[in-house]
Amino acid sequence: MNNHILQIIYLIGSLSFIVGLKMLSKPNTARKGNLVAAFGMAIAIIGTIFLYEGIKSSNYIWIFGGLIIGSILGTVSAKKVKMTQMPEMVSLFNGMGGACAMLISAVEFNHLKHKYLNEALPQGQMIIIMLGLIIGSISFVGSIVAWGKLSGRLGDKTLGIQQVINIGLLTLILGLAAYMIFWSPSENDLYFYSIWAISALYGVLFVMPIGGADMPVVISLLNSFTGVAAAMGGFLYDNKVMLVGGILVGSAGTILTVVMCKAMNRSLTNVLIGNFGGNNNANTTTAAGGTIREINTGDTAILLKYASKVIIVPGYGLAVAQAQHVCHELEELLENEGINVKYAIHPVAGRMPGHMNVLLAESNVSYDKLIEMENINPEFATTDVVLVVGANDVVNPAAKTDPSSPIYGMPILDVENAKSIIVMKRSMKAGYAGIENELFYQPKTSMLFGDAKNTLTKLIAEVKTL
Ligand code: NDP
Repeated sequence: MNNHILQIIYLIGSLSFIVGLKMLSKPNTARKGNLVAAFGMAIAIIGTIFLYEGIKSSNYIWIFGGLIIGSILGTVSAKKVKMTQMPEMVSLFNGMGGACAMLISAVEFNHLKHKYLNEALPQGQMIIIMLGLIIGSISFVGSIVAWGKLSGRLGDKTLGIQQVINIGLLTLILGLAAYMIFWSPSENDLYFYSIWAISALYGVLFVMPIGGADMPVVISLLNSFTGVAAAMGGFLYDNKVMLVGGILVGSAGTILTVVMCKAMNRSLTNVLIGNFGGNNNANTTTAAGGTIREINTGDTAILLKYASKVIIVPGYGLAVAQAQHVCHELEELLENEGINVKYAIHPVAGRMPGHMNVLLAESNVSYDKLIEMENINPEFATTDVVLVVGANDVVNPAAKTDPSSPIYGMPILDVENAKSIIVMKRSMKAGYAGIENELFYQPKTSMLFGDAKNTLTKLIAEVKTL
């Protein structure tokens, strides 16, 4: 009876994951989607604890101890995290998923070993255990390295023959795993722990050389690895909700990886070995040169006030300055003056997919004002003023004109087609790709220096006085 109820709970849980994931695809339903999926996970966990016959009540102290500590840590870190640190947190949490899958494999290997004492271990179960161990370890260690790199604790390190070493390690891991599965050696512990250690080493060497701006792509890839590793746990325990959850995470992570690569117009191989970006200082690879034109908030206010169409281009700097609320205030002020205001959303603006949508949704910007790149690009030619707020790489014309540029080929926002462009940033420093931006030197462009939030606040005050 209990098992029947549990299967129904798993069915509801699996449906909640699917519905929740679907709702996450639109900004206006995303919050609710998150809650729907969390509800599915909550009932699956509670149902398993109380109805699954394999769980002894004497273990409740461990289970609830872990649940309470995990919930406190999760809640506190989710409340404290800054929007700009989201990729780091996602990476850390993803690593925990990989660690779970890896530990499940270790526990189940020990069970199997004791069950089949002095006998060959069953191949079917060993394949699943090995896959969970290898993929889980790579995902766990890789995610921790990614977290270290994003938080500035680790730098990019590349050995000269990195790719050869990585291919060699992967071949060794697969070879040892195949030997263990199909020939079941008597010293299986030695093989198991060697495969575990080499997979962890591979996780480090796989992520270490990847360039900073590519980290979100790698995190998404590691996320899909964790999903696959969790699905292995679903197979092991014949647990449908774990299997569905794992498959959804695995496929969603894979789709997101492909979408991000496409948005940057790069292949996954290029992301994994290309070492692009990660240079957050003023060192630049190309010198655009020329003179720049500075503008003050007073003159910008006049330009805006007499415009009939304005497009705001938000970028990573908007997130850093937490300027989304003032930005929305300026937009409303201009709209009330009869000016048509829209936002141009580049798919990789900021530091994570959907970064700008999430940020602007937070300040209640209407969703129909957020226009995707393909749709807004033809509109720049009929725009009076483009306000670039803390964006750099996503408006860099070098992506179209300079084949030697690391961002060459990435689709960008065609802001240079507008009548005038105002760029709001603090200095002439480069963006994430670490390259100069010739847009800043073009005659139609004016630089409005300062922190985005302060400058927008002053701008609002100036527009109000006109
Ligand atoms: P960039 O990183 O290119 O530029 C951000 C600019 O913001 C900087 O030049 C900086 O200039 C300025 N800035 C920083 N702080 C402030 C502040 N407080 N006030 C005003 N300006 C500020 O950002 P983009 O959004 O244009 O581009 C995103 C980059 O990230 C791209 O290279 C993209 O490929 C990469 N990327 C993004 C992914 C995603 O999923 N979103 C995934 C993978 C890569 P200054 O220091 O002078 O103020």
